[in-house]
Amino acid sequence: MIRQTKVKTPRRPAPKKPSNTQKDPVGVYCRVRPLGAEDEECCIEVISNTTIQLHAPDGLKANRNGEYKETQYSFKKVFGIKTTQRELFEDVAKPLVEDLTHCKNGLLFTYGVTGSGKTHTMTGSPGQGGLLPRSLDMIFNSIGPYQAKRFVFKPDDKNGMEVQTQVDALLDRQKRDSQTNVPKTPSRRILDPEFADMISPEEAYKADGVDEDSSYSVFVSYIEIYNNYIYDLLEETPFDPIKPKWNVAGIPLRHNTEFIQPQSKILREDQNHNMYVAGCTEVEVKSTEEAFEVFWRGQKKRRIANTQLNRESSRSHSVFIIKLAQAPLDADGDNVLQDKNQVNVSQLCLVDLAGSERTSRTRAEGSRLREAGNINQSLMTLRTCIEVLRENQMCGMNKMVPYRDSKVTHLFKNYFDGEGKVRMVVCVNPKADDYEETLLVMRFAEMTQEVEVARPVDRPICGFAAGRRQKNQAFKEELTHRLEERGGPVDGESQTVLSQLLQSFTPLPPCEISGPNDDVTLPKLIEALEKRHKIRQMMIGEYNKTANMLKSILQEQDSNVLSKDNFIQEQRGKLGEKDKMIQNQKNEIDRLEKKSKMLEYKIEILQKTTNIYEEDKRSLRHELESREQRLQREVSDKRRMEARMQGIVTDAKLKWEKECERRVNAKQLEMQNKLWVKDEKLKQLKAIVTEGKTENRQPHRPSREKDKDPPKRSASPSPVPSPYNGCQSSLSSLEPMYNFPQTVRPDYPFLRPGSVSVTSCISEWEQGVTQSRRQSSHMPPDRRKRAQGLPSTLERRRGRCWVRDCEVPVLPADVDLETTGQWTGPPVRPLHRRSHSAGGERWVDHKPTTNVDLDTVMQPNIPNAIKVTAPSEKALSKCDKYVLTHQEVASDGEIQTKLIKGEVFKTRGGGQSVQFTDIETLKQESPISASRKRRSAETGPAQEGEPMEGDWTDVETRCSVAVEMRTGSNLGPGYQHHGYPKRKKP
Ligand code: ADP
Ligand code: MG
Repeated sequence: MIRQTKVKTPRRPAPKKPSNTQKDPVGVYCRVRPLGAEDEECCIEVISNTTIQLHAPDGLKANRNGEYKETQYSFKKVFGIKTTQRELFEDVAKPLVEDLTHCKNGLLFTYGVTGSGKTHTMTGSPGQGGLLPRSLDMIFNSIGPYQAKRFVFKPDDKNGMEVQTQVDALLDRQKRDSQTNVPKTPSRRILDPEFADMISPEEAYKADGVDEDSSYSVFVSYIEIYNNYIYDLLEETPFDPIKPKWNVAGIPLRHNTEFIQPQSKILREDQNHNMYVAGCTEVEVKSTEEAFEVFWRGQKKRRIANTQLNRESSRSHSVFIIKLAQAPLDADGDNVLQDKNQVNVSQLCLVDLAGSERTSRTRAEGSRLREAGNINQSLMTLRTCIEVLRENQMCGMNKMVPYRDSKVTHLFKNYFDGEGKVRMVVCVNPKADDYEETLLVMRFAEMTQEVEVARPVDRPICGFAAGRRQKNQAFKEELTHRLEERGGPVDGESQTVLSQLLQSFTPLPPCEISGPNDDVTLPKLIEALEKRHKIRQMMIGEYNKTANMLKSILQEQDSNVLSKDNFIQEQRGKLGEKDKMIQNQKNEIDRLEKKSKMLEYKIEILQKTTNIYEEDKRSLRHELESREQRLQREVSDKRRMEARMQGIVTDAKLKWEKECERRVNAKQLEMQNKLWVKDEKLKQLKAIVTEGKTENRQPHRPSREKDKDPPKRSASPSPVPSPYNGCQSSLSSLEPMYNFPQTVRPDYPFLRPGSVSVTSCISEWEQGVTQSRRQSSHMPPDRRKRAQGLPSTLERRRGRCWVRDCEVPVLPADVDLETTGQWTGPPVRPLHRRSHSAGGERWVDHKPTTNVDLDTVMQPNIPNAIKVTAPSEKALSKCDKYVLTHQEVASDGEIQTKLIKGEVFKTRGGGQSVQFTDIETLKQESPISASRKRRSAETGPAQEGEPMEGDWTDVETRCSVAVEMRTGSNLGPGYQHHGYPKRKKP
């Protein structure tokens, strides 16, 4: 025999990591059994072949005020009460048997309340074989011709399968035959009438695609799980001569009614991580009958044990395991390949679960109650496992499934964890009593449908050429045929090789020796034998040659296969690498996709921001344009206005110049006339006084020549004290007269009409002249110049009378002059003096905020004053006196406070004007500084005037005041202050 080179192919893939990712949901079917009695209340209605509807029974409805809803449940398929066992088998079990023949595992279980038809469905009833006998029948129909001889496959005790040689198998067979009286061919055995009609299905099913170049063997086990203990129902209890317990068939011996609880079995995990019952009997069966007989034996044993031990069979789970071992034939197609690794074992578990009713319903007490609890416990575990599995699969979680909590779930762990096909037939009894439990069954069924189990993969086939069995069979048939033709006896397979050889030889001559002198027979025999020997030698040579050739071919093939294997391995490695690469790239793609999403999001945000800015920019530009346009308009308006104003100003200027000239001339003339008249009167008076009695002299009007010679006249004060610049030029001819103070106090007696003493008038007048001259000589040269009315910018500026609202200079006392021809008011009187209110004088006390608070004892206190920090028109309008507290640093470094006082007048324009009349200087002195004392003592109008020049601008800017020299004021003659409030914004 030439050994096949072994490339280890795993018998089953590691169940922890199924190589395929395809999954199928657990197939859940529903079978509704007919009601026991026809008049019974039915609470289940089959709506379609996939849906049933549950109606609450009347009693329950009444209890719950008719609130019970009708609920619908869907299944892969629903089988109604008329469904036959065959129909059910075809849909539910047939695919599992087909899978089994293709080396795939399957699990089929019935679930439901006791009496719902689980056993009827699984095992069947007399005359109606269930899924179990039908599955067995289909298996044997499919593998019948390819079954291996008994004991060729031999289970080891680790859930594995070994292949024995023909001789070992024969020996085992002989041993068994000698022990029991089992008839050789089961078909010829007399079947138990109890189940005989259950195993003769009306139609023989056969699986397609069964590999005929393999040999098959079926092994069955039957276990019961009761109270979470596993019992082997096929175990042959060793015969105890003193206390016999069981016979082979599981029937208690006649004289022994005492039973010992059989030893329970434990679960183990094999090298492929499959769970199995350690030490469980596996019976090799060769036909449906034999298999079912074994099952029935176990069933009987179970029933008896239950009776004897007072257990309820509905509380135990029964598991019937059909194992199908298959191995390829050798190259000759004659024997099973002697290689354990080439053996494939698949199994189909048929499970009849315990009734799923609650403990309360089983009228159990004491230990029975505990049992019931356990039964429910194991079903509860099943439910939990299914629940966790579903949760894990649906939510991608990895919660631990508590398979180990019960034996049933632990045993079938591989189906859910690894691969296989799982199907469940939910049996329901439509009777009202079962309603509430049926509801629970339905919920479990619904949940189970959502669990997915990995689909089993196809097994790799061995490397031999297909059709080996057929060739071998054809050869054998041909040989038998030929031998039969020759009339030779055909005695089994041991003669086939011999007969094959015999074919090639010529028949031997008759070997009967007629006598001692028979020289013919022997030589002929010798000749024939020699011939045969020669042929034999030749054949041996031929055989050796062929064998060698075959050997080399095989070796070649072997090496080919080896290299192919290597190649495949290599490719697999590469494939793995590529897979890794693909995975990496997928990850990279995922990462990049995430990144790109992020960037897209950012871009979107930036786009939005840009849009907002763009919008802003547009609106700002628009605004800018409109503003520019407005500005342009305003500029042009302003230019137009300027031009217009210029025109108006020049017009007004011209008009006023002319007017002034006219008036000045008129006045001059008038005044000259008056002067002349007065002069004359004076002269007359003088003459009267000095000479006592004089002749009357006729006064006469002065001539024009006289008018033109004013210096010749006595120096009389000019009646036209004009601070108005426009008059300067016209007044230039009167310049000598302006040696007098420009403004004259209105109460000068010599200007007041009425009866006064002439001498006093004259002396007063002369005094006034000298005083004013003295005063002007006190002044510094530039001051004197200014006081004399010499033109200078500062003088001109100060000479102006600023009035709010417009810069039109005030013409003094024009109306009075024109109407009366008399000098009545102050020479500079453009303002209307406020009439003193009954309450006396009211002051505006202007103290700039910049003033420093001096801790002096002498503080000016003006009662009833309005205190302001900046001159306001409103305050001025209410008062008639104004005082500004002005602080400055004196030349000696001391702070000197000046109270600049004035009177408030209303102007014709409706504004306010302040005429400064007085300055009070408050100064602190340090007693130790003598020089300072002296200096402060000398403080007079002249000294005061000194710093005024420098500080004037400061005062002016701070209180917006114009100062003019005036007679009688401490500043010196002619200083007059006109204040106007700062222009307020409208
Ligand atoms: P379970 O095993 O669920 O307790 P069984 O299979 O023992 O229930 O069924 C109880 C009885 O009901 C049996 O006598 C059985 O013959 C009968 N029965 C169950 N299902 C059907 C069915 N579909 N058609 C006819 N009879 C049935
Ligand atoms: Mg049952």
